[in-house]
Amino acid sequence: MSGGRESGQLNLIPGREPVPGSEISTPPWYGRPPRPDVDPAGIPDSMTCAIPDDTAARTDLVTRFGFEISSCLKCSLGETRTNFVFGTGNRNAAVMFVGEAPGRDEDLQGEPFVGRAGGLLNQIIEAIGFTREEVYIGNILKCRPPGNRDPQPDEVAACEPHLHRQIELIQPVVICALGRIAAQTLLKTTASLGKLRERTHLYQDRPLVVTYHPAALLRNPNWKRPTWEDMKLLKKIHDERVTR
Ligand code: SF4
Repeated sequence: MSGGRESGQLNLIPGREPVPGSEISTPPWYGRPPRPDVDPAGIPDSMTCAIPDDTAARTDLVTRFGFEISSCLKCSLGETRTNFVFGTGNRNAAVMFVGEAPGRDEDLQGEPFVGRAGGLLNQIIEAIGFTREEVYIGNILKCRPPGNRDPQPDEVAACEPHLHRQIELIQPVVICALGRIAAQTLLKTTASLGKLRERTHLYQDRPLVVTYHPAALLRNPNWKRPTWEDMKLLKKIHDERVTR
């Protein structure tokens, strides 16, 4: 990556190279017992500070934020989780993927999108020229709904502020919502996935595209071609804004 702004072009930002130590696959907070000194009711005051201009300080804050909320009990899912699942990848990523919630494997491993669906997501990411370590992957909910049921409105209301802050700190250039539930939840709509695809939406003033959940692609391979179209749109948005 060359980095640096190109003169005469608006809205171009330098390539998002991982800062040293920013690729995290097994964050240190997973499996820790709840900390009684962390307010379980919300985002800790220490985490509402201004966002540092310095990239290393900002990405450090992502790690601290994950640690500070790892004992969250804002909704009942905190009582039943095995592991809190904050997210994984480059904390300075230009591209962020957001699913709905951890499943069984993710709950057990403390990492989003593992197992077969995770493997397919890795292939999708690589098809557009990135690696799993270069992008950031997270979910709307940080704890697994029992039986992999859909997230409930009260759970989304409790947990979405965490995602908001996570996005503020990571500052992705483009976001991809994976699946109907993630898309409908983030965009506050009941529109079908078909109506939400092939368009650029805004979430927290950042471009957001919608595509199929990798688990749905495993069930219906016919959706792989439209997913590729969605990924081309995501890559185009990225390339228009980031110099590499
Ligand atoms: S799902 Fe979110 S709000 Fe609910 S306990 Fe887990 S981290 Fe807290």
